[in-house]
Amino acid sequence: MFLNDRMKPKELIFLETLSRRCELTSLEARKLSILKRGYEGEREYDRIFEEAGHDNLLIYRDLWLKIEGSTLQIDSLIIAGNKLIVNEIKNYSGLYSYKDSGWFINGTQISEEPLAQAARTGNKLLKLRALLQLNFEREYKVVFVNPNFNLNIVPEDEKNIVQRSMLRHYMKELNKMHIDARAHNISLKLKDYFIDDPMPLPEVDAARVKGGSYCSRCGSFEMNVRNYIAVCRECGYKESLEKIFVRGIIDYSVLFFSERMTTQRIKLFLGDILHIRSVRRLLNKYCVKVEQGKSTYYIIKNQEIDTLLLNNNYISRYGSNIPR
Ligand SMILES: [Zn+2]
Repeated sequence: MFLNDRMKPKELIFLETLSRRCELTSLEARKLSILKRGYEGEREYDRIFEEAGHDNLLIYRDLWLKIEGSTLQIDSLIIAGNKLIVNEIKNYSGLYSYKDSGWFINGTQISEEPLAQAARTGNKLLKLRALLQLNFEREYKVVFVNPNFNLNIVPEDEKNIVQRSMLRHYMKELNKMHIDARAHNISLKLKDYFIDDPMPLPEVDAARVKGGSYCSRCGSFEMNVRNYIAVCRECGYKESLEKIFVRGIIDYSVLFFSERMTTQRIKLFLGDILHIRSVRRLLNKYCVKVEQGKSTYYIIKNQEIDTLLLNNNYISRYGSNIPR
């Protein structure tokens, strides 16, 4: 069973949000595409695991751990019986080959070394054996989820690799193990080493970021604002001002995570679509209000739009805007 949700990486959310409000540099665009592909691969892995079944396993997804000063990230950590299994998930596509510890695509060596990376992660877990005084076994596998991935590799190097064609079988075999008291014990004790994603986000230059409100269907900033709705001038899509507001405060909190969200800043950022009284009312609805001396600022309750709307009694007057 999955023990936690797989969250979209915060850097991916950041770059997706940034891309809606400014032209990305080529470096940012490349990073965005890598993160997107990686996340899609992880979701595909989860989907196949759902189909194959995982009732007899304990699975932590997208974990960050700190063990004696060293930090490690694990795409999927499977616990069953007395075993810890690291799955490093890769969404490569194309024709690859593996030779002399190097990975090549079309004859050119790539900078990533998935097997070495998974081995390092696996070895760091070994430190826990002494710390927890538990004598678990550990395994690691690099899992390739993309059906368009082909690998040329000699069989003796393939021991720690699972290709897509074998993935369902691999998962079904895993699920023949069982969760016993030892597995529960390991999964509980591991929690002491969990940390939040420690990777810092870049500070964004506010001058690059386009303020205003945009159409959620086509991304255009050209909107005709009426009493309770805005209509996109490009595609005609109608959306309630409340929902546009909510998307705006999410964007603000993602891009300017180190800034305090105040009524004035939000009013300015959203491009005057709402009266200051409405801005204040909606901030109180979707955020936690913090009063510090004479100043007041707001902390958004959730950065995921559907959850934020649903948990805060958003009622749409427009059929097409009911949050899923
Ligand atoms: Zn539009």
